[in-house]
Amino acid sequence: MSEKIDPALPKVELHLHFEGAAPPAFIRGLAKEKNLDISKIFTEDGGYAYRDFWHFLEVYEAATSTLQTPEDFHRLCLAVLEDRARDGVVYAETFLSPDFCGGGDVSAWREYLHAIEEAAAIGQRDFGITLKGIVTAIRHFGPEKSRPAAICAVETKGDFLTGFGIAGDEKMHHPKDFTWAFDCAREAGLRLTAHAGEWGGAKSVRDALDYLKPERIGHGVQAIDDLALVDRLAEDRVVLEVCPGSNVFLGVYPSFPAHPVDKLREREVIVTLSTDDPPFFRTTLVQEYEALAKAFSWTEADFRAINADAARAAFCDAATKDRILQIIEGRA
Ligand SMILES: [Zn+2]
Repeated sequence: MSEKIDPALPKVELHLHFEGAAPPAFIRGLAKEKNLDISKIFTEDGGYAYRDFWHFLEVYEAATSTLQTPEDFHRLCLAVLEDRARDGVVYAETFLSPDFCGGGDVSAWREYLHAIEEAAAIGQRDFGITLKGIVTAIRHFGPEKSRPAAICAVETKGDFLTGFGIAGDEKMHHPKDFTWAFDCAREAGLRLTAHAGEWGGAKSVRDALDYLKPERIGHGVQAIDDLALVDRLAEDRVVLEVCPGSNVFLGVYPSFPAHPVDKLREREVIVTLSTDDPPFFRTTLVQEYEALAKAFSWTEADFRAINADAARAAFCDAATKDRILQIIEGRA
């Protein structure tokens, strides 16, 4: 029998795509207001509809096409934080893409970011959630577009915008094509994370580490096929942003019990837990915890430890980190 995990357990979520966390009802409402017909991306029950990962990217972009103005992103932020509050999330980081917010133009991006930051402040007040932003380059948009994305990040880094990363189709391009963007962000003091090892195999994790030198890896789970790499992750304290439900839903692994997160943890890799694009994968963080508790007999103590690790790996200032750790460890 697995232990029942309290749904209200305070949680830290580090790997969440902003548009990918958009509740379908919110996107449907926005499409209606703007007279956009995107009905084909929804199933009859109102969820997002798609066949596989590559179709998912298409549907994702169609959903994103409804998000056009800074005001839209402000409202999206509140909708996303409301969902996080339901999951007991107390601290979250979200991937933001200047490609979707002003097309990579710095002054346009500034307006979008300002609108999101204002909503984050409301979210802090109303839901008690601290939100930080990570600018991500979109890998399948190509290396050229990663440069303005990095410049947007550098120009707007601050209390809210604290990181830089890369997401998108791992089969396109090589990490070495994005070193300019990562070096630029690193030199400006931004914290770094890179998607790798979701689809690309262990080698993609190794390449991301070698060329982009991130402190966290998005997914990274396929590192499990190369134990020397697993040991390197553990020794170098590289943090994995693991999203088990996303991997199972997209068929990277057939089931939760078959997912390598438990083995990675046993080999002392620092793992954290997130939902990636939750409404697209029909998941919530509460559901993830339930499924993991069942698959690996993880207890509430395991989840507290994982959340404490996530707080320590957060891209925020020391005072925020301490405050979040106190909440997680039940001292606040
Ligand atoms: Zn992701």
